[in-house]
Amino acid sequence: MRFVIIMSVFLSLFNPLKKYDKTELAMGTVVTITLFDKSGKGNLLIEEAFKIASEYEKLFSSKDSESILYKYNIQKNAVIENNEILKLINDSLYYAQLTEGTFDPALKALISIWDFEKIKEPPSNELIKYAQSRSGYKNIKLSDNKLYLANEASIDLGAIAKGRIIEKMAEFLTESGITNFMINAGGDIAVSGLYNGKRKWNIAIADPYNRSRTAGFIRMTDKSIVTSGDYERYFTASDNRRYHHIIDPFTGYPADNGLNSVTVISSDSTKADALSTAFFVMGLERALEAAEKLDDVEAVFIYKKEQKTQITVTSGIKTVFHENLGFEFILSPDSF
Ligand code: FAD
Ligand code: MG
Repeated sequence: MRFVIIMSVFLSLFNPLKKYDKTELAMGTVVTITLFDKSGKGNLLIEEAFKIASEYEKLFSSKDSESILYKYNIQKNAVIENNEILKLINDSLYYAQLTEGTFDPALKALISIWDFEKIKEPPSNELIKYAQSRSGYKNIKLSDNKLYLANEASIDLGAIAKGRIIEKMAEFLTESGITNFMINAGGDIAVSGLYNGKRKWNIAIADPYNRSRTAGFIRMTDKSIVTSGDYERYFTASDNRRYHHIIDPFTGYPADNGLNSVTVISSDSTKADALSTAFFVMGLERALEAAEKLDDVEAVFIYKKEQKTQITVTSGIKTVFHENLGFEFILSPDSF
């Protein structure tokens, strides 16, 4: 027995952590899992984590005609049997109220007419007004598990579901004994433990005006870092304006208040996802005030003033955020 204990201590001292990583398309975006492990199960656990993502995608996607949410959107009246959907819709309503409707889980009608992959010009005012009349979280009537969607409204959880799904993937890895890992789902990032078991993770924040460069980086452990921006999903119309995918529910148009990138840092990735979208709609002043008041919420705001890039961060991360505007974007954390 003593021999076994001595051997396992010996092996753990001399068996260094091995790095595993894999990138796949999931949730309509590029997802990378990086982990450090010495049990030899790294590849297997990464595969399992991706399976979890695709199981949850089948619940939460409003685009996939096979998903449960898609069916609710058609039925308008449903009894929700699945606890995970029930919880995420309830959480969405909580964040809609908390953010005074700037994050809104019932914007599917508006989002559909602003489909940046299909259109090249903004929709007409009439169409926007019509879509607005079929939008808005107050149309989601949820009593226990009975769901009714009033005014023909439909649910879209695109601004919060990635946060929940990376939380589920992270829970799985932690329960499987992996402590040092990063999950990056197209700008929704969760980090746990240490890079290579040695140092905090360095998370780069992209420069929204030049995606091959960084605006800064944050040294973190056990946090989620979620960015919403206007520079990945958009179209440029004949008026030379950029129409992006984050909609101001009050105007029916893409949010247009000067912010180009908002990053939210929290230990709760669902919260970080919902708030990054809400803060983008709120604009700098209101979002900064909200972020300073909320518990377990820090934020980085990027915008232009007199044509110069400005970065404003909340008081809680002043010492861990390092501005490095203009540096080449370094994709591999090994390079830091
Ligand atoms: P966020 O700011 O987090 O979210 C913006 C997205 O939320 C918008 O694209 C819109 O869908 C919605 N939204 C806009 N304004 C608001 C607002 N004020 N309040 C609330 N929501 C708002 N993309 C594909 O192209 N194809 C797919 O098949 C596909 N499947 C997906 C499946 C799942 C389960 C999820 C979570 C996402 C999927 N996506 C897919 C991506 C999705 O459509 C969004 O583009 C993505 O979630 C946006 O995330 P973000 O971090 O870029 O921005
Ligand atoms: Mg979001």
